[in-house]
Amino acid sequence: MSRPNLKDFRRIVVKVGSSLLIDSAAGEVRETWLEALAADLAKLHAGRRDILVVSSGSIALGRARLKLPRGPLKLEESQAAAAVGQIALARIWAKVLAHHKIDAGQILVTLQDTEERRRYLNARSTIAKLLEWRTIPVINENDTVATNEIRYGDNDRLAARVATMASADLLILLSDIDGLYTAPPNINPKAKLIPVVESVTADIEAMAGVAASELSRGGMTTKIEAAKIATTAGTHMLIANGKIEHPLQAVADGGRCTWFLTPANPVTARKRWIAGSLEPRGTLTIDAGAVAALRAGKSLLPAGVIRVDGQFARGDAVIVRGPDTHEIGRGLVAYDAENAELIKGRSSSDAAQILGISGRAEMIHRDDLVIGTIPTA
Ligand code: GLU
Repeated sequence: MSRPNLKDFRRIVVKVGSSLLIDSAAGEVRETWLEALAADLAKLHAGRRDILVVSSGSIALGRARLKLPRGPLKLEESQAAAAVGQIALARIWAKVLAHHKIDAGQILVTLQDTEERRRYLNARSTIAKLLEWRTIPVINENDTVATNEIRYGDNDRLAARVATMASADLLILLSDIDGLYTAPPNINPKAKLIPVVESVTADIEAMAGVAASELSRGGMTTKIEAAKIATTAGTHMLIANGKIEHPLQAVADGGRCTWFLTPANPVTARKRWIAGSLEPRGTLTIDAGAVAALRAGKSLLPAGVIRVDGQFARGDAVIVRGPDTHEIGRGLVAYDAENAELIKGRSSSDAAQILGISGRAEMIHRDDLVIGTIPTA
């Protein structure tokens, strides 16, 4: 399977690690870097994707603010440091996203919130509502109450659970390394980056386990654990270098990273997403010829549309009905309601001329179209 493309994903969880966010010497958030990341997130968000952030940093930031000595913290110390750090962390995320007119919504979860069914469903519906309102949920473990026995402790696995809970189709772990290597690159100059992992085998796990330093060992092991959780649940995952500015743009431009693929392909995942999770904003009624074309796997062209109802924007989900008003399927429409009205019934070249565009003239592209029903699980 080849390397997927960032633009094929509809709901993306981005995990940001403490070492990227916090300059521990200065005891402050690396704001310029975070502003650049927020710009990347805003760009994906503006492309009508759902974005969730899993942000670490509460303990690191709290400890820096409180000027706590180096060395391991006792549980109650890290809980108290997290209380100080988290409030600052939330403020900074709200600020950088507000620059793009996006509201941030803070969610602090415990292990039980993701593992117990009732709580899981509760957290899941809060997330769904926040996404429906087009906010970006910013999630962390509730470190102030999480005790050693009942905590994730690492946000890699937490992010994987959040991704599956939110039915995300992609989880991005931004790290201080650009992906998984065949051996630890700091001690083995021959180590090679693995661009695509099709399944997390024992060999892959071993590669994570042989890292030399304490930091990289823990670091890669929990990332591989996260990959197992995510890919088993139908979510693709990728590890990319977060140290650079605009790290997500770098991935979109084909930069170095490691993809962990789930057997479900992104188009299927996207279709499942269209079928199950989007609130339709309008209806397109199409003629019998278009019904036959759609059933044969073709895109919906303007020529086949006989009626446009509802107030929808470009990229919204709409219901597609046949001439007898029977529902044929659903899809993400490529034009807003006003333009759809203007070009309905016209050939693609007329449509392009009417709208003064040279771009694609499909009303709904076949990748964005679900015919009949697709299981939403
Ligand atoms: N939840 C912890 C924090 O925000 C971070 C865990 C991790 O670094 O993975 O400080």
